[in-house]
Amino acid sequence: MQFILVSACLLGEAVRYNGGDNRCDHALLKRWVDEGRVVPVCPEVAGGLSTPRPPAEITRGGGGRAVVDGEARVVAVDGRDVTEQFIRGAERALAHAREMGIRVAVLKEGSPSCGSGAIYDGNFSGTKVAGVGVTTACLAQAGVCVFSEHQLADAARMLEQLERGVGEKGEP
Ligand code: SF4
Repeated sequence: MQFILVSACLLGEAVRYNGGDNRCDHALLKRWVDEGRVVPVCPEVAGGLSTPRPPAEITRGGGGRAVVDGEARVVAVDGRDVTEQFIRGAERALAHAREMGIRVAVLKEGSPSCGSGAIYDGNFSGTKVAGVGVTTACLAQAGVCVFSEHQLADAARMLEQLERGVGEKGEP
């Protein structure tokens, strides 16, 4: 069985910067939880940040890849540089994925860690730009397919393909 890495806030865990969650009640997510294939992760908490915490954005909308490459920073609204914690959290998420052979992740859209299509522009202006978060960049580089909570049907198709492929090879 393929496991799926999922943003903990989508599962109702109160790990958001503001102490809340982003619970997603989609039937597919519920099914995956019932099947025991969901591995929750909150990279920001795993990286050592507390909850609640000041919101953070990637400077200049550079995106997660630029952060990993040392070309952009992650800075909280109070001016604290939290790049190190974001990178550590991404590494923890990647380690989880590797340990469990995870090939598919469903992560919260728009987050500087978990975003896979859009992130905020770095000015705390509420403006989104195309880009991915730090954890998404690390996972994608390692070959994990990252979907947002708006793409659950696509994630399900990918899982199905992976499981069919494994079955064809006669592996467990
Ligand atoms: Fe959710 Fe990811 Fe933000 Fe944690 S880092 S609260 S899992 S979006």
